Amino acid sequence: MTTNTQPEVNIGLVGHVDHGKTTLVQALSGEWTDQHSEEMKRGISIRLGYADATFRECPEEESPHSYTVEETCGEHDVETDVLRTVSFVDAPGHETLMATMLSGASIMDGAVLVVSAGEPVPQAQTEEHLMALDIIGIDNIVVAQNKIDLVDEEQARENYREIQEFVEGTVAEDAPIVPVSAQQGVNMDLLIDAVEREIPTPERDPEADAEMLVARSFDINRPGTTWDSLSGGVLGGSLVQGELEADDEIQLRPGREVEEGGQTEWQPVETTVRSLQAGGQTVEKATPGGLLGVGTGLDPSITKGDALAGQVAGPPGTLPPTHEQFTMDVDLLDRIVGENAGDVEEISTGEPLMMTIGTATTVGSVTSARGGEAEVALQRPVCAREGAKIAINRRLGGRWRLIGIGTLRE
Ligand code: GDP
Ligand code: MG
Repeated sequence: MTTNTQPEVNIGLVGHVDHGKTTLVQALSGEWTDQHSEEMKRGISIRLGYADATFRECPEEESPHSYTVEETCGEHDVETDVLRTVSFVDAPGHETLMATMLSGASIMDGAVLVVSAGEPVPQAQTEEHLMALDIIGIDNIVVAQNKIDLVDEEQARENYREIQEFVEGTVAEDAPIVPVSAQQGVNMDLLIDAVEREIPTPERDPEADAEMLVARSFDINRPGTTWDSLSGGVLGGSLVQGELEADDEIQLRPGREVEEGGQTEWQPVETTVRSLQAGGQTVEKATPGGLLGVGTGLDPSITKGDALAGQVAGPPGTLPPTHEQFTMDVDLLDRIVGENAGDVEEISTGEPLMMTIGTATTVGSVTSARGGEAEVALQRPVCAREGAKIAINRRLGGRWRLIGIGTLRE
């Protein structure tokens, strides 16, 4: 489907693996987000998948049945009116991929929590993802009760009650719960209606300095491309504020690790914006909301294989500072989410932690911990502002588990 509108809001798809997130994105956008061949092989979305959908309204129908993603409304044979284009961030549900889910959450303006009607509520990542939304502060939520085609009406009602009970007292307490079948395309109009009400486009300040959170970076050249026809490195991510235009000078922080006189040091990288892709097309100017591709003048060897994922881009001199260590105020969860998980022990000096800040994920070692604060030395530095939220994970039973939230000091 073609569209002339740039996406203006990012909506995360979260929930347990196999509950139907990718199928739902496909039903709304016509795109399959599990495009990466490796992802296809493993059958899970290893990386965040992006897909844009344009919500439309049929002028001949009453709301909410007027909502659709089709360009014409079937039996009336008239064109539908464009409401807005949204960008879906399809987060993986696999339990070891919490960090990817959290890095997606930093660029989400709202979320659709997908819960299968065919399983007891909650499954482990249903609970863990909801808690992550709570922590990151995403409270514009719609619950999609999916796979209603697999259960009878009585089971659907019982499952609906279980969902209601589960979200009670959480950030999703007032979220509408919409029964759908993503696979059969049932109740997509009601789901669009709920998203239009609950996840409005945030107000943006067009004067603010551009700040892009880089979620991916690529080398788009085919092997064997000659040097004179090489394309520059490409960045994928989302603008959290400001606007970017072709020919803008940008800096990336933390940048690259360079060696000078036997010492290594992180230095910002500077380049020029050569092209911008938003909403599946080339644009002159990109605005916040939606996922953005930025063609740059960088040597593609610098950007290949997500090497710059987790960095921040914007006009030189405006970006937050780079930290190789920092102090954070810590709020620990009472208990670890999931089965047999137990209480959260205090953070201790010397222990390794995995932290997600913006789209950056880094491992650090605790150099000092007392009361409600911890000081950590990072393996890879991060670029972040004072007050930034940090998802803190501890290694438990062979995997990283969310134990709390930090707030960057100083
Ligand atoms: P994800 O892991 O949450 O992204 O889940 P997928 O979208 O990959 O779906 C997992 C499986 O459930 C796939 O086999 C889908 O075809 C199936 N599925 C998704 N939605 C529905 C639905 O509404 N009804 C039925 N019967 N199956 C569904
Ligand atoms: Mg999926």
